[in-house]
Amino acid sequence: HVEVRVTGVAKAYGGVAALHPLDVAIGDGEFVSLLGPSGCGKSTLLRCLAGLETPEQGRIAFGERVVFDAAAGIAVPARGRRLGMVFQDLALWPHLTVAENVAFPLRVRRRRDRGGRSATQAAQAALARVRLEPLAHRYPHQLSGGQQQRVAFARAVVAEPELLLMDEPLSALDAALRQELRAELAELTRSLALTTVYVTHDQEEAMSMSDRILLMSQGRLRQGSSPEVLYRSP
Ligand code: ADP
Ligand code: ADP
Repeated sequence: HVEVRVTGVAKAYGGVAALHPLDVAIGDGEFVSLLGPSGCGKSTLLRCLAGLETPEQGRIAFGERVVFDAAAGIAVPARGRRLGMVFQDLALWPHLTVAENVAFPLRVRRRRDRGGRSATQAAQAALARVRLEPLAHRYPHQLSGGQQQRVAFARAVVAEPELLLMDEPLSALDAALRQELRAELAELTRSLALTTVYVTHDQEEAMSMSDRILLMSQGRLRQGSSPEVLYRSP
């Protein structure tokens, strides 16, 4: 996990600004939510961090490592950044078991995790963290929506990412389950001390999970505050 530093990053689509030049720093191990209405640029910022979009301007560093610098012509693609990602669409492989899905990010790289464990052992440990070991040999369609989402979290953290990026990961779930998973997910990311950027349009979700909330509107960061400060403001 690393500190993330975004400097002057801007992105437009067809000449229309989706992000105005924007600066933000996210601390090592910090859980930050991007909160704002649909279309305000949350996903665009997340995708710039992921290396799935190329900004027109600016610079992004993960710790000491510059992963994007428009002026210097540096643009490390997503696969060259050490990321865990969870999107609304889970994209679990239907033909792989739960354990195989979770082990997949390590298998494609043909390597052990940093602790020297095999992909299978690392997948077991990740599944234990989301309390799904008993379901390791099932297929995704045999799981509930909440269980599938927990598999997606386990897969996102199995390779020990430097940065965890999540885009509305709970929005397809019903209210009760959403609440349960919020707590579980916040605890999981903290126990791993993961630097996390979490996109949501749900204020309650951002309030209950984050160390800090970055309010966005119309492609700009309007305010960054802890949940406590936002509760107190009128
Ligand atoms: P949010 O995640 O806050 O809903 P987005 O980052 O998805 O907002 O979108 C920000 C703006 O950029 C919106 O006006 C959206 O229509 C536009 N936009 C996003 N992606 C594309 C794209 N691939 N092509 C054109 N416009 C896009
Ligand atoms: P290195 O072995 O050089 O340290 P990394 O461990 O950073 O390389 O990553 C190897 C490749 O796997 C990179 O291209 C990286 O982006 C990709 N990668 C990293 N984390 C994941 C993940 N959770 N899922 C899938 N691919 C990943």
